[in-house]
Amino acid sequence: MQDGNVRDALRAAWSSCDRVVMVMAVGAAVRLIAPLLDDKRRDPGVVCVDDATRFAVALTGGHEGGANALAEHIAAYLRATAVVTTASDAFDVPTLVDVGAAFGVRTERDGDLAAVGGALVSGAPVNLLREVAWPLGPLPGVTEVDAPAAPLLLVTDRVVDPPRPCVVYRPPSLVVGVGASRGVTADEVGDLIDATLAAAGLSSLSVACVATVDAKADEAGIIEAAVTRGWPLVTLPAGVLATIAVPHPSAVVAAAVGTPSVAEAAALHRGGDLLVAKRKSTRATVAVARRAPRGHLALVSLGPGDPELVPARARRALARAEVVVGYTAYLDLARPLLPRGAATEPSPLGDEVARARRALDLARQGRSVALVSSGDVGVYAMAAPTIESSAGDGAEAPVDVEIVPGVTAAQAAASLLGAPLGHDHCAISLSDLLTPWRDIRRRLRAAAAGDFVVALYNPRSATRDWQLDEARRILLAHRSPDTPVGVVRDAYRTASSVQVTTLAALDPATVDMRTVVLVGSTRTRMAGRWMLTPRGATT
Ligand code: SAH
Repeated sequence: MQDGNVRDALRAAWSSCDRVVMVMAVGAAVRLIAPLLDDKRRDPGVVCVDDATRFAVALTGGHEGGANALAEHIAAYLRATAVVTTASDAFDVPTLVDVGAAFGVRTERDGDLAAVGGALVSGAPVNLLREVAWPLGPLPGVTEVDAPAAPLLLVTDRVVDPPRPCVVYRPPSLVVGVGASRGVTADEVGDLIDATLAAAGLSSLSVACVATVDAKADEAGIIEAAVTRGWPLVTLPAGVLATIAVPHPSAVVAAAVGTPSVAEAAALHRGGDLLVAKRKSTRATVAVARRAPRGHLALVSLGPGDPELVPARARRALARAEVVVGYTAYLDLARPLLPRGAATEPSPLGDEVARARRALDLARQGRSVALVSSGDVGVYAMAAPTIESSAGDGAEAPVDVEIVPGVTAAQAAASLLGAPLGHDHCAISLSDLLTPWRDIRRRLRAAAAGDFVVALYNPRSATRDWQLDEARRILLAHRSPDTPVGVVRDAYRTASSVQVTTLAALDPATVDMRTVVLVGSTRTRMAGRWMLTPRGATT
């Protein structure tokens, strides 16, 4: 392409694109973009890739323009090195404008981002005051305090005049309940909400939603007042609102709409405290509640052990975690992926219910928590006890639970053995610590009779040494002694071992708790060195 063409193309892209990638020497790229640079909040993010595709350099717009993230992305794709030079990334300091963003927290723009960010990068003490408990993500180098002192990160839904420099974070903690009579105008609803928030000293940036009764779902004045302020509108059945205790119930309202309160009950529909009891204008009523803090709990699968098999979603969940809970060995697996500033809470093997409760408790305090398991978190791991414990909270548990799936041991082992899971298969844990052996035996018999390939988890430990041999005998009742059996120890970890034997020759002594055993079906055979369960119909 001619030099003139590049210039024109770049000028066109500058005004129409969010991000620009330039494949050329950094020097040439700098000369080309120099006349176009204006304001880092408006300019596109620019990434420069050298002709040999060795480096992806985030040139300008690292944070605001998304160039840092794009450089990392391109580098991963090209197997190149990302060159990111903005101070907060270089020093592993959180980008203040992103703090809490994953959890709906907004930064008040006129805060002193540069001053507080500068203090963090230079290692000066920075304080964090959470007036409202809300998940933020890890904040290395920050000290949590009880009273405001600059430089400060302040999490609050109140209108404040903090000591400077201070960055104010607005959690989505306020729920505005609205009632109105038919035909109310958007101005009347909006003015009443604005005046109510102002009189109570509450920030509109912290409004999570406007809530009302289903019967008002099409009330144009309410809809417009919410939409113009960028707030979602939530509507609730009168029957639900009627169950919420409020300070000012009204028999007249109950007779008209089927609930003694609309505004106060709607404001309280996510629990929490009523900050402003109902205020009225001619045709509208408004009340404001601060909902209970909503913590975040990520149930994170780490895969079998190789960092390359840690799902990208798991990495993202860990990067947002303030506290990471898990069995000691799994925490070690996660540690290289944790951001600086994330606390870890190791717990001993066993006592999974206590571990689940602890993670839920931390999240209920309004934190972002990750609970890690090896393999898949839903397979003989922490997802089940956590969901069981959280169910006790009722449907409105104040915790958002995210479950990140991963590669379970059977799949990891299968990939090392060939294609043993190519047709129908099942998993059976031989651990009789929580399940009576007679249940396990019944399932082994059913799997044997049903001709499933069987993945045996928890096959043998120092104290459970006879179960594997009994499982072998049950399967032999329905399968040939030559049935291929894969024995995989420490799949995708250092010193992994992969062996193929037969059901007759399987030696339990070669198996331990770090092993998964894959027993073939009647159709499983060896294809060269690979174990294979063909997909076709029975021959
Ligand atoms: N959540 C895990 C399973 C936990 S149960 C998963 O999805 O993989 C623990 C059992 O899983 C171990 O006793 C062993 O049988 C098996 N296992 C887990 N990781 C393994 C690995 N890397 N190699 C072989 N077996 C493994």
